[in-house]
Amino acid sequence: MQEALFKNIIAHAKEYGFIFQSSEIYDGLSAVYDYGQNGVELKENIKKYWWDSLVRLHDNIVGLDSAIFMHPKTWEASGHVAAFNDPLIDNRDSKKRYRADVLLEEYIARLESRIEKEVAKGKKRFGDNFDQDQFLATNPNVLREQAKIDKVNERMFKALGEDNLEELRQLILDCDIVCPVSGTRNWTEVRQFNLMFSTQMGSTHEGALQIFLRPETAQGMFVNFLNVQKSGRMKVPFGIAQIGKAFRNEIVARQFIFRMREFEQMEMQYFVKPGEEMKWYEYWKELRMCWHRSLGLGDEKFRFKDHEKLAHYANAACDIEFLFPFGFRELEGIHSRTDYDLARHEEYSGRKLRYFDPETNERYIPYVVETSIGLDRMFLAVLSASYTQEKLEGGETRIVMKFPPWLAPVKLAVFPLVNKDGLPQIAQEVLSKVRLDHYCLYDEKDSIGRRYRRMDAIGTPFCITIDHQTKEDQTVTLRDRDTMLQERVSIEELPKILDNKLNSKQWLQKLT
Ligand code: ATP
Repeated sequence: MQEALFKNIIAHAKEYGFIFQSSEIYDGLSAVYDYGQNGVELKENIKKYWWDSLVRLHDNIVGLDSAIFMHPKTWEASGHVAAFNDPLIDNRDSKKRYRADVLLEEYIARLESRIEKEVAKGKKRFGDNFDQDQFLATNPNVLREQAKIDKVNERMFKALGEDNLEELRQLILDCDIVCPVSGTRNWTEVRQFNLMFSTQMGSTHEGALQIFLRPETAQGMFVNFLNVQKSGRMKVPFGIAQIGKAFRNEIVARQFIFRMREFEQMEMQYFVKPGEEMKWYEYWKELRMCWHRSLGLGDEKFRFKDHEKLAHYANAACDIEFLFPFGFRELEGIHSRTDYDLARHEEYSGRKLRYFDPETNERYIPYVVETSIGLDRMFLAVLSASYTQEKLEGGETRIVMKFPPWLAPVKLAVFPLVNKDGLPQIAQEVLSKVRLDHYCLYDEKDSIGRRYRRMDAIGTPFCITIDHQTKEDQTVTLRDRDTMLQERVSIEELPKILDNKLNSKQWLQKLT
C-alpha cells in the first residue's frame, strides 16, 4: 500500500477544495464527506461523461430520477430486509469492529502480494527468459501460497453461503488473523448486521411508517419499469439510467471516500429478452471497460474480476477493479440479475410487470443486465490516478493534477501578466468570450509562476496570459498544464482552439 501517497492525496483534496470531512467543526461524522468547490465540479463532469455515454449515445437508453424514499415493501421484495447483511466481528481488546469477510479478504490480499513478490524476484532472476505462466504453475513458494488462498476462499464462500457464522470465526482463528490495532486474537462471535438506515414517515408516532433510505438506486428503476416502457414506447432491449444517493450503514468505513455511509451511484438497468442476457452481459462488460479506458488513466489500472460466488438473483457477475493507492478494489459491478427483481415486485405488489412483445405477441418478464458504479469511487480513481509530483529544472517540485481535460473542475484560467497598463480589462474581455463555454477562473494576484502552480494543483488544463504584446497584436499565450509549454494564439481563434482541446465529444465518439 502506498500509504504516504494516499495521505498526500487526502491532504491535497482538502487543501484545494475537493473534499472536506462532513461537519468537521464538530470533529466530523465518520464516513461522510462533503465535496468542495473543485470537487463538485469534477463530480459533475464525471456524471456528465457517464450520462452522455449512455443516454446520449444510445437511442434505447433513457434517464430516471426516482425518490430516495420508497414504499417499505420494495425492500422486502428486493430481499434487502432479510438479507442485506454483513457479518461483523469485534476485537475485545481494541473495541474495534470489523467485517469478518473483509478481514479474510485482506488476509488473502497479503498472500497474493507474496506471490507478486515471488514473480518480481523470478523476473529479475530470469530476465527475458522469464515465463510467468510456467513460473506460477511450478514455483513451490507460489504453489504453497496459492493453495492457502484457495483453501481460505473455499471455506469462506461456503460459510457465507450457508450463513455459518461460527465457521467464519473459526476461519479467522485458523488463519491467525490479529486485530491491526491491538494485535490480539481476542475476537467476539460473528453476528449479522443489516446495513439499511431506517427512519419514520408520518406525523403521529402510532401512525408512522418505518421506511428505509435506499441502499441502492436500482429498485427505483425496477418499480418504474413499466411506467418508463409505456410512456417512452420503449422496445426491449432498452435501458434506464439513474444517478443518485444511496445509504449504507457500513460496519467499517475507512479509506476516505472509498467506503462511505452516504454515497452516490450511477446505475443502468438494461431490460432484455430472457435467454439473451449473456450476450448483453458480455456487451456491457466490454463497453464499460472501454469507457474507463477512454479516460486515459492507464489501461493497466483496470481489470475484471469474476464473482466467485454469485448472489442468489444473479446468473453472471463481475467487477471492474481499479488500482487504488491501497491496491486493486471494486469500482463497478456488472451483474446479470435474471428476472429476479421484477418477478419479486410482481409477487409483492400484486401488479403485473410484463412486457408485451409486439413482434411475437408474447408477454414476459424481461431479464436485466445491470451496470453499477460508485460515483465517489470513480472520483477517487480519477483523483488518485491524476495526482502527480514532478521535479522541475532548478530543483523545484510541482504537484499537478493531470485530469483528463474534459473532467477538470476548472477548464481555463485567465491572467493579466501585471495588474496595470489596461491588461486586467483585456483579460476580462477575453474571459467574457469563453466563460459560457467553459468553467474559467480569473486571477491577478501574485507572480505569474505562482498562479500557474495554483492552477496545476487543481488540474486546470490551460492558462491564458494577457501581456503587453496582446495590446499590439491581439494575441495571448496559452499554457499547457502537462507540458508547461506556451504558444501564442490570437484571441479571435481562442474559442475554437479551446473547444477542440476541452470537449469530450472526440472521446465519446469512440464509445459508439
Ligand atoms: P463492496 O463489496 O465494496 O461493499 P458492493 O459489492 O456491496 O461493494 P454494490 O452493491 O455492487 O457494491 O454497489 C455498486 C457500486 O456502488 C460498487 O461497485 C461501488 O463502486 C459503489 N459502492 C458500494 N458501496 C459503497 C460505499 N459504501 N461507498 C462508496 N461507494 C460504494
